[in-house]
Amino acid sequence: MPRIAVIPGDGIGVEVVREARRVLAALEDANELGFELVDWDLGAERYLRDGVAITDEEFRALADDHDAVFLGALGDPRVPGMEHIKEILLGLRFKLDLYVNFRPCVLPLARLSPLVTIQEPFRIDMFRENTEGLYTGLGGSFKTGTSDEIVIEKDLHTRKGVERIIRAAFEYAQSQGRGRVTLVDKANVQRFVGSLWRRVFEEVGGAYPGISQDAMYVDAMVMDLVRRPECYEVLVTSNLFGDIISDLAAEVTGGLGLAPSANIHPGRYALFEPVHGSAPDIAGQGVANPIGAIRCVSLMLEYFGHQQLGERIEAGVLASIEDGTTTPDLGGESSTEEVGSWIASYVGSEST
Ligand code: ATP
Repeated sequence: MPRIAVIPGDGIGVEVVREARRVLAALEDANELGFELVDWDLGAERYLRDGVAITDEEFRALADDHDAVFLGALGDPRVPGMEHIKEILLGLRFKLDLYVNFRPCVLPLARLSPLVTIQEPFRIDMFRENTEGLYTGLGGSFKTGTSDEIVIEKDLHTRKGVERIIRAAFEYAQSQGRGRVTLVDKANVQRFVGSLWRRVFEEVGGAYPGISQDAMYVDAMVMDLVRRPECYEVLVTSNLFGDIISDLAAEVTGGLGLAPSANIHPGRYALFEPVHGSAPDIAGQGVANPIGAIRCVSLMLEYFGHQQLGERIEAGVLASIEDGTTTPDLGGESSTEEVGSWIASYVGSEST
């Protein structure tokens, strides 16, 4: 029976997680899945109250006593340096070695995106390396604050790190019947990093002869993601480029409010979170789109082997949009709770 730590977190995280739980509960009622949800009070409020984001003991309990984390969002203007995010989210990613950041960008209805011209729905699956690159915090500054200041930020890539994320992308493509994997880099400038990624991409890709494989510079890719995103299937890239282009890919496929993500160490642990942040500008108003979080339930179900139920949630999401039950970001007038309830009653209406 999977044990899930639920961290609603800050801002709209609390509101969207409530709806994600409603949808999971509806499926639980109809299917007896046996997920055990354990509430965790972590976030800015706790950090401001106690001066600590997460203790070592809590961290151990999260890692050892749970199979996965379900996170809403972290971020609060009262914590300007975002220390609690670094400790909780980056701590989990690094300490649990969640090296795959999987971000499926699915456009369920072409008309949802003013950026695309085609009429057909499409999806781009993004594999972002999640434990290396510029995110290790290695570096420093010298003569800080003077006119002679020097700063160095280390961009760290290991062969092991590059290989395992590329393999994860190819494995996924193969298992899902996707025909193309594209490496995104900046090999013309990052000579050493680019060379490592390209060599490993070619080597690993050699074991998947049925999948078409190519590499693109990140600047050309961002242009193409706007011009003809439907040409791409699976993208694999480094931590920094993945961070940037996945927001663009989310926007091209209907907006931040729709996008889910999973941080995974395959076979060991997973953390699910919507791509959007805490959105302080709309928090507490009941207008946040809960679909990104609801789709995280879909990813979580698929991760634990309930493929069909994950697809059922996707069908519920599409049906709610077609019905016009949408939050203002998609042009509708429904509240966060109305969208969540609509999808919950759709998925709960018949057991699968
Ligand atoms: P954080 O610092 O936590 O990342 P942010 O506001 O800087 O928060 P996001 O939360 O990622 O960044 O979102 C950027 C903007 O997109 C928000 O200010 C909000 O207006 C909009 N937005 C994000 N998520 C949603 C959502 N689920 N529903 C509706 N609008 C959203």
